[in-house]
Amino acid sequence: MKIRAAVSRAQTPVPALETLELQAPRPDELRVRIVAAGICHTDLHAHAGRLSPLPIVLGHEGAGIVEAVGDRVRDLAPGDHVLLSGSSCGVCPDCTQGTPSYCDEAMPRNFGGKRLDGTTALATEEGAPVHSHFFGQSSFATHAIVPERTAVKVDASLPLETLAPLGCGIITGAGSVIESLRVGAGDSIAIFGVGGVGLSAVMAARLVGAERIIAVDLNRDRLDLALQLGATDALPADEGDLVARIRAVTGRGVNFSFNTTTAPAIFSAAIDCLAMRGVAGFVTAPRGEWAPPMFQLLSGGRMVRGILGGDAAPRQLIPMLIRYWQQGRFPFDRLIRFYPFEQIAQAFADVAAGKVIKPVLRVS
Ligand SMILES: [Zn+2]
Ligand SMILES: [Zn+2]
Repeated sequence: MKIRAAVSRAQTPVPALETLELQAPRPDELRVRIVAAGICHTDLHAHAGRLSPLPIVLGHEGAGIVEAVGDRVRDLAPGDHVLLSGSSCGVCPDCTQGTPSYCDEAMPRNFGGKRLDGTTALATEEGAPVHSHFFGQSSFATHAIVPERTAVKVDASLPLETLAPLGCGIITGAGSVIESLRVGAGDSIAIFGVGGVGLSAVMAARLVGAERIIAVDLNRDRLDLALQLGATDALPADEGDLVARIRAVTGRGVNFSFNTTTAPAIFSAAIDCLAMRGVAGFVTAPRGEWAPPMFQLLSGGRMVRGILGGDAAPRQLIPMLIRYWQQGRFPFDRLIRFYPFEQIAQAFADVAAGKVIKPVLRVS
């Protein structure tokens, strides 16, 4: 069938809308009409050709309505409302233990730009293949072909456009605090970079009862928002000795740090601010030369912990976060700004310039 999709092509500043041809779903796939799709920094990296082959349709925080299912699909049916998260095999050790972001096939399934058999679900009207299946969805499009495991069913009474970013950014931040670091009552955490992922971590840290939640950023507006969402302290990153100011909050450093930035100096600060046996979680790699301070780690029994997708099992964590949101205890909707699908270029520009925390495209 013909669909409208935002296609990322080499040497273009932003994805551009085109009419494409979409295949029918395979036996284990769904066709989803996309209602809304969040934009995440990963989409910007991928658009620049750093993660996946081009041309490709990106988008990995889709929300929509199932229109058609393959014959082997058992859990979902046409008409179901779904949020889309990552793709995983379902049978490897990490999938069976509920940590599918570390699936043995995570890289080819999420970044390969095609099914594992090498086929893509998308082509131009002239028949030239366009890469699909980005995070199992390629949801910057009116319709997507999605492996069944990528979809999480939600109640049809809920607003899909608001829920869309739960699929990646929000569960990454909240899952890092709840599942990966397992922050609890009485703990202290410093959160470096309070964009969509960092603010989700702030809200989750309040949810689990952390005693001190220290937000660090350069952007004063975001620090104000962090305080409103549960941070106990907000520290501008550019006002003097950052590590000393964090250590001064607790007197002995923090139990946890959570780094959403790529700045090498922040990777160092996120370890230097830890108390004895503290853990430094991070969700993106340092951009530039950086080496871990091994003596600091050794001398304090400290750990550095890489985190993908908040270690979350989306079918458990997403419904839980929705319930907290309904109770007013996880107000992630305050991070969102909506854009019409046709304004995807503006939304990309606003993310790159730091003018928006969580843009969500209203697709159809
Ligand atoms: Zn797996
Ligand atoms: Zn993402």
